[in-house]
Amino acid sequence: MRQGQQKHLRILYSGITGLKLVLKFGGTSIASVTNIRNVANLIKSLSKEHKVIPVFSAISGVTDDLIRITNHIKDRNGEAANSLAKKIIKVHMDTSNQCAKNPKIRKELVSKMRSDLDELEELLHGMLLIGEVTPRSSDYLISFGERLSVNLVAFTLNDMGVKAVPLTGKDVGIVTDASFGEAKPLMDTTRLHVSHKIESLSQKKIMPVIGGFAGADQHGNITTFGRGGSDYTATIIASSIKADEVWLMSDVDGLMTTDPKIVKNAKLIKEVSYIEAMEMALFGAKQIHPRALEPLVTKKIPLRIRNTFNMKNSGTIVTADPQPDTQKTVKCVSAIRHTGLIDVRGGSMVGAPGTAATIFSILAKSGVNVMMISQSPSESSISIIVKKNDMDKAVNALEMNLLGKIIKKVDVTVDVSIIALIGSGMRGIAGVASKVFTAVGRKGVNVIMIAQGSSELNIAFVVKDSDCNAAVQALHDEFELAKGN
Ligand code: ASP
Ligand code: MG
Repeated sequence: MRQGQQKHLRILYSGITGLKLVLKFGGTSIASVTNIRNVANLIKSLSKEHKVIPVFSAISGVTDDLIRITNHIKDRNGEAANSLAKKIIKVHMDTSNQCAKNPKIRKELVSKMRSDLDELEELLHGMLLIGEVTPRSSDYLISFGERLSVNLVAFTLNDMGVKAVPLTGKDVGIVTDASFGEAKPLMDTTRLHVSHKIESLSQKKIMPVIGGFAGADQHGNITTFGRGGSDYTATIIASSIKADEVWLMSDVDGLMTTDPKIVKNAKLIKEVSYIEAMEMALFGAKQIHPRALEPLVTKKIPLRIRNTFNMKNSGTIVTADPQPDTQKTVKCVSAIRHTGLIDVRGGSMVGAPGTAATIFSILAKSGVNVMMISQSPSESSISIIVKKNDMDKAVNALEMNLLGKIIKKVDVTVDVSIIALIGSGMRGIAGVASKVFTAVGRKGVNVIMIAQGSSELNIAFVVKDSDCNAAVQALHDEFELAKGN
């Protein structure tokens, strides 16, 4: 067993101490006073043995509400915007009044919360007056979910005798580019600022409680990382301070061999590589922010996906190179339900360079995200999978611009599912594809389209949505995923 491996197994089974752990908690972990106190207790007990740096999402539902507010502002619907803001204010004030038992600490929490909420109200007022939402003002507004949630946790920790301060991503020193809504960290600057800030707090024995999702550009404007961005915050922090591990705490035990709603005996996956985890994240096995693993790769910091409500379970660990005995050909079968298939055909597409480029640039211009593509070698047809919601937009754009020119016919099939098998053990192994399609064929499931990336890390194919469950079950059985690893 490698040394790193030994170390993270030992955290679970014996008393290794002194690890630097970045723990990221999702919104459900703090969705009630009881949950907040439980989480604070968990942090407190872990912090007796380890150096814990917790990162938090907004309370569940709050970011959604803030985004709804931006839409109401655009629609000049002040009433709806204000009523949602009232809801957010009420939740945070009510919770503030109950989190801390010590009256003095409670008062401090309430007053910190009040002052942050005043700023939120002022911002909302300004945005409503102008009736305009820019990418910059939108990020400022939607970053409030995390800014508010960390107050609750930090003061609850204080109440339990742990010295802690709430910090936003900006406060802790995360510096990003200015791509509002999908910012990327400027890692060198960030590393410097974050390590300095956390070190100086640590010398004073103060625990930073960090709000995820947001940072600030070089001019101090608040930026956000995109939905689910608190995962990314956690890994950015971990890489900045060379943490020993990152734990993503949520309400599931870890990555599963498939959706347990489809297959009853789906199993927890114990160990996957960064690349496998990225593929699984893209296919929605567990919503990890798509860039969240990047900061960990060069430093080889392991990431663990764990359940706040079930700490007995050690979760799934994501490492640079998983132990050989956990390597299986296929590790999981995931499905993306309810997508749409567009078949574009035409004789004049054959041997005409630039056809694919034209088609995809038209789709890109109309804001359609293409999820999967395949082209027949005869070049007379291209199949494209898009989200069901994008279907009308995509077909309209193609017909308006290309029908009668380079394409003759656009066929659509609504309600298809993408099924993907993921596992780096597939690479270079002959016969995986035949096993897959034989298993599916035995169930009478018709395969509509197939794609495999040259990385051979996944095979994906498309079936009618009504065939999805049968196909997933057949593959889960065929690759004996219920046996676990
Ligand atoms: N609160 C943000 C969101 O809901 C970020 C996160 O939860 O990770 O997308
Ligand atoms: Mg969230």
